[in-house]
Amino acid sequence: MSNFQDIPDSDLESAVREAYGDQDLVEDVGFFNFVCPYCGTISENPMAKIKRKAYVYTNTWMFICYKCLREHHVMVDFKESYPEIYKRLIFQKYGHHGQKKQPSYKKVYINGAYNFKDGELVPLDDLYDADAIRAADFCRKRNIRQDVYSRWFVCKRGKQFLDRNPDGSVKLNKLGFPIGNEYGNRLIIPYYRFGGTWIQFDARSLDPNNTLRYRNYTGAKRELYNGDFIHFDRQFYILEGSIDSTFIKNSVAIGGLQHFMSFVNENPDILKYKKNCTILFDADDPGISDLRKVMKLGFNWFDWSKLINDNKDSASYGKPVKDVNDAVLNCSSIKMTSDGCIDPEFISGRTYSSEAGIMMLNLKYGAPKKR
Ligand SMILES: [Zn+2]
Repeated sequence: MSNFQDIPDSDLESAVREAYGDQDLVEDVGFFNFVCPYCGTISENPMAKIKRKAYVYTNTWMFICYKCLREHHVMVDFKESYPEIYKRLIFQKYGHHGQKKQPSYKKVYINGAYNFKDGELVPLDDLYDADAIRAADFCRKRNIRQDVYSRWFVCKRGKQFLDRNPDGSVKLNKLGFPIGNEYGNRLIIPYYRFGGTWIQFDARSLDPNNTLRYRNYTGAKRELYNGDFIHFDRQFYILEGSIDSTFIKNSVAIGGLQHFMSFVNENPDILKYKKNCTILFDADDPGISDLRKVMKLGFNWFDWSKLINDNKDSASYGKPVKDVNDAVLNCSSIKMTSDGCIDPEFISGRTYSSEAGIMMLNLKYGAPKKR
């Protein structure tokens, strides 16, 4: 009988979430608790009391059900009932069947970078990590290209990634919350620079219930997403979101309209080549005064107003599209190129000069008030 002690806790935690996640799984300090897949039933009636009789204890990794009295290592349970998960964990450990273990994330120490702990960050092309598989699936469902998301990471969640005091206890901040693993269960989108190093990143929540969908690393200065790779002498595009910008070639993302002016001030080429530039801000109500300030500088402007969500399976069916990713997923009139990007001609067909754009803004929002 193998012993499973070498399997990292974080991998076992992810596997438990994957296996029993549909069983009304709850997580607590030291254990997972869920409806037993063997003797429990998940009621359709939302008022029915949930009977979570099964536990997995994270100090011993024992699976115990207090009703049907199953009791064995969780890996034994995986082997019997979730063979895919079992195989993945075992192959990961031993590298069986000529399956090479994916190279793990190489740490590049850069001054000012967030100090992810060993094992906390897993590349999305890791085929043996449940969290990486889930995050890659998240990207595929948004039609993000594989050559883009394969350079991204998932930040695992787990108490082993918390900061510790010398005596081994968890470090707490002034409010009494643990420090470390702040980006757990998030997709990490690095802001790569020339040479492949990065400090800044976006952290997109993978938990649909998390209200803070995006976090930007606040420990370092804001950067232009893809700022090192833009060609100003060709048509280029400025967007708000990093994910949105992956659908448009020769584009950068600024993170939000409110940051536009600081990037313009830092990068004189943006203004110098403004005739080559189209701004594609999110369609949902922008900060109108910020938008006017940008338009007055003379940038070309993309008009969203005629694009409607016509995907019957979407919750926002019939509504105006919100942003680039929404358009890619839910708007059949958008034209894509064979390599998964938006056709530049489709964009230019809906692009107006700054003067025309300002007139359209005035029509929609009213003329600016005189002071
Ligand atoms: Zn049971």
